[in-house]
Amino acid sequence: MLGAFANSIKATLLSASAKLKTAEAGYEAQLLLQHVLNVNRAWLIAHENDALQPNIHAAFEALLNRRLAGEPMAYILGSREFFGLDLLVTPDTLIPRPDTETLVEAALAKILNNTNLSILDLGTGTGAIALAIAKNCPQVSITAVDASNAALEVAKKNAQNLNIHNVEFVLSNWFNNLSNQRFDVIVSNPPYIEENDDHLTQGDLRFEPISALASGADGLDDIRQIIENCLVYLKPQGWLMMEHGYNQADQVADLMAQSGLNNIETIQDLGGNNRVTISKNPLIVSTHWD
Ligand code: GLN
Repeated sequence: MLGAFANSIKATLLSASAKLKTAEAGYEAQLLLQHVLNVNRAWLIAHENDALQPNIHAAFEALLNRRLAGEPMAYILGSREFFGLDLLVTPDTLIPRPDTETLVEAALAKILNNTNLSILDLGTGTGAIALAIAKNCPQVSITAVDASNAALEVAKKNAQNLNIHNVEFVLSNWFNNLSNQRFDVIVSNPPYIEENDDHLTQGDLRFEPISALASGADGLDDIRQIIENCLVYLKPQGWLMMEHGYNQADQVADLMAQSGLNNIETIQDLGGNNRVTISKNPLIVSTHWD
């Protein structure tokens, strides 16, 4: 039947991907239709000649129009996979990136079989880093802070959905609201883009919270603040692990050295970019509380 074919799943996807013109147009069109139909990809492919009901077609067109207006897939779908976890994502949170999985791996490598470690995640957003560590190390206790209450609500929901109980969420602008506690590992993916960077007005970044992306003229304002204050919150021999821009490794390493941290090492992401720099609190005996 001609009418049915015009509205078939296959025809709908073809027409949508022709309009989208993104690198992953066909895949994105499938994801949007899967979302409307609440089906997986295998189902969609097996039913490509089925006709779509008008209300389903209209719902799909509405999502397609949002994507055509540039809205990120993660905000339209309301979720994003990170380190094997399905995370809720809203415009109050940065969209978790594969680059950040490098930071999680670096933290897991240090945590290894050490039980009962305490971890601090600064600027947790969706909770991605904290929850990925927590899921893989149920024995550690994690404190995850964010300056945005709305982001923390998303992170808490993610913890609930994933049945993760070893993360405590705290409203705090970096260390400001933390009590006098020291951690074995501090991880952070802070904002690190230069405030005048053209990328902020392009692609997904246009839709993401600017407070999670940009950080002063050189992009290092928040990184500086974290590194300058971290020693008071790091246990002796504890690790600080920071994600940063592809061209910021040297500056981050210098800042760490200036603060007295040692064992400084930069790690590349899967794209081969310098992405994470780690360093250690050289103190063997604590000079502050505990
Ligand atoms: N990695 C992100 C980007 O460049 C930025 C995230 C951040 O500032 N922490 O798109």
